Amino acid sequence: MINNRLLLIFLIYIPLSYPIVGKKIKITNYKPILEKCDLQRTGIRSFLRNNVAMKLLVNNETLKTEMIKAKSIQCEPRNIFELKKDIAKSYYAKLLFVTSSTPYPRHNDGLLQFSSKIKGAVLSSDLCPTKRGLYKRFFEKTFKAFSNKKQPIPIVFAISGNWLRFHEKDFNYLLEQEKLNKIKITWANHSYTHPYPKRSRSKKQLEQFFLTYGKPLNKEIFGTEKLLIKKDQLPSIFFRFPGLVSSRARILRLQRYGLIALGSNSWLAKNDKVKNGSLILIHGNGNELHGIRKYNKLLHHQHTKIKNNQFNFFDIYDAIKLSKKVKSY
Ligand SMILES: [Zn+2]
Repeated sequence: MINNRLLLIFLIYIPLSYPIVGKKIKITNYKPILEKCDLQRTGIRSFLRNNVAMKLLVNNETLKTEMIKAKSIQCEPRNIFELKKDIAKSYYAKLLFVTSSTPYPRHNDGLLQFSSKIKGAVLSSDLCPTKRGLYKRFFEKTFKAFSNKKQPIPIVFAISGNWLRFHEKDFNYLLEQEKLNKIKITWANHSYTHPYPKRSRSKKQLEQFFLTYGKPLNKEIFGTEKLLIKKDQLPSIFFRFPGLVSSRARILRLQRYGLIALGSNSWLAKNDKVKNGSLILIHGNGNELHGIRKYNKLLHHQHTKIKNNQFNFFDIYDAIKLSKKVKSY
């Protein structure tokens, strides 16, 4: 009898969940799902994290993702058409279905820009695979330019699996800057292998290459998501195609995976101009130094406006909320 009571006390005090930090995280059974869940949330992935059933959810109003234990939430499976009906009035539905609608340009489809009423822009930096180390001067210059702000600088990092695998120190540097409250990271997915054709190819050949590269899209998407989760990070709903090249079929596949294509109306290395509401694209991974030079010029030109709070970098979620139009051709 005493033994049974001791056993009961022991069982009650076994912690229900274990801290993950510092432990190796194992992700298995990773699958795309579409589920209508409680508290205005949509389930987009299910998986086992260290053998515990988990779900990745999107909040239909804030557009932010979260990971929770599957048993702690009520969800019902939906196909894409049922989901569209169920969440029709939500921000998530508007964004998901507007950015995946016609026309389907081969280049730069998806979310491109925000309202021109925004005093500033959204900054995104691609982390494509490279042998170069992270371009830290980019961060130093940004911190200096915005040194009078108390808020961290929001940056969308479009991260590829093969950058993360080979740049552990640089990745930790980014996490460190976030811990120091200098930046606020949104992780967008930039595919896993990010195939890159040789420069000698023509524009048409380049686009063809990006479109037809060998790996299946689901592996390219889920591989990077799993890597981020293993690093205790949260994948967002944003996906940036390598070279910004997509097709109708690929955009619709993204839609079924609950993801939004992230383009850019201001790719600095291509000499695009930065206006209010721009979605800026640069390469903080050390590639495209021409874009970084343009970026430095931007900070220089906007110096007074930055100081006077007339030019800011916006959090992508806030920028979407402040915009009616996010796609235009
Ligand atoms: Zn890239």
